[in-house]
Amino acid sequence: NNYTREDILKMVRDEDVGFIRLQFTDIFGTLKNVAVTASQLEKALDGGCMFDGSAIDGFADVEDSDMYLRPDLSTFAIFPWRPQQGKVARLICDVYKADGTAFESDPRFILQQVVGQVREEGYELNVGPECEFFLFHTDDDGLPTTLTHECAGYFDLGPLDLGENARRDMVLTLEDMGFEIEASHHEMAPAQHEIDFKYDEALTTADNIMTFKLVVKTIAKRHGLHATFMPKPKYGTNGSGMHLNMSLDKGGINVFSDTEDEKGLSREAYHFVGGIIKHIKAISFITNPSVNSFKRLVPGYEAPAYIAWSTKNRTPLIRIPAARDGDVRVELRSPDPSANPYLALSVCLAAGMDGIHNEIMPPQSVDCNIYKMTEEHRREAGIDALPGSLLEAVRAFEEDAFIKGVLGEDLSEKLIKAKTEEYRDYRGQVTEWEIEKYLHRI
Ligand code: GLU
Ligand code: MG
Ligand code: MG
Repeated sequence: NNYTREDILKMVRDEDVGFIRLQFTDIFGTLKNVAVTASQLEKALDGGCMFDGSAIDGFADVEDSDMYLRPDLSTFAIFPWRPQQGKVARLICDVYKADGTAFESDPRFILQQVVGQVREEGYELNVGPECEFFLFHTDDDGLPTTLTHECAGYFDLGPLDLGENARRDMVLTLEDMGFEIEASHHEMAPAQHEIDFKYDEALTTADNIMTFKLVVKTIAKRHGLHATFMPKPKYGTNGSGMHLNMSLDKGGINVFSDTEDEKGLSREAYHFVGGIIKHIKAISFITNPSVNSFKRLVPGYEAPAYIAWSTKNRTPLIRIPAARDGDVRVELRSPDPSANPYLALSVCLAAGMDGIHNEIMPPQSVDCNIYKMTEEHRREAGIDALPGSLLEAVRAFEEDAFIKGVLGEDLSEKLIKAKTEEYRDYRGQVTEWEIEKYLHRI
């Protein structure tokens, strides 16, 4: 929405908004906010809301820590679940330094830069995400567990599943906030759900993903449930992905489509896929940034483990679903919802554009079930595996100068350091699995 400063002041008055939350996202993808009262709004709209950047992971050093929030007026929205008097609204903000320039490691700024460059070439990236999540019970102290009483599966419907009610409420709340919900369904695993909202240009979609998670968690809590976007909360069943459906527009026309081609794909589409495949190992560090992410990327649970693409089956990393009316899109299936959506879209878009600029052709498509191929067969076909751990992903990222360049040196260094430490800490843990496997035997 193209709100002016006056529109916002008027809406705040007319709707009796008492608090405005100024939101931004830290480098790890966590939503942060400070609340100001309506009386402070004008000052905040002028970019006058200062905060201590050194208190936010990966932002500023203590010596140079004053940072400012500049609200993006188009993101104004009222939270439908707050009291109807003295309502609560939010504005998504960009982060600025004390010298008045943009903070170069603000994830939202990085995505704006990438989108801006692509726009100069006349392209617009549209992204439709598919966010999956689990709804678990909380314990007597209200703390989250991984327990569920549910036993419903894919596309099942109630009354098997208490989560159904919560999910319906989520959909209605999202619609109240202006989301267009295309579908929502029970996913494969017990207590696993998916809600799909309509694609939009990249920056709006990244903002929407952040809002989506907040709404899902808030409404789940109201139903006494805990919503988690953890990629693989349970062994032996499906994990949660955040598939990204991408297409490129030029002058309002989807340039991925070419009806002359045997697969219906244009040169841009092949090259975009080629670019993503070229950089996918480094991309994985951004789209799958937790230790747990790599527990999901194993064969057998509808998540990709190998680097391949197909127009047919669902086991590969990239799927190009059958298109209607030239609406070709590229579905990248590796990302999971623990990713920072601003950074994830930045690296995917930049890698795809690298493919277009350098006319990178993807390998042969693979139209059979890759899980079922033997190791040898895969090697002959030249099918490589995705990184097997967070550490492998860190290494791949370190080696990919192009992808590091998209995020910039400061942010790349910070992420490498934090994630290497995270992995090291994990490596030292002794798990239940090890106790069961070794304690009595050795
Ligand atoms: N949950 C699966 C994953 O981990 C995806 C299932 C689907 O195709 O929607 O990516
Ligand atoms: Mg799904
Ligand atoms: Mg999908």
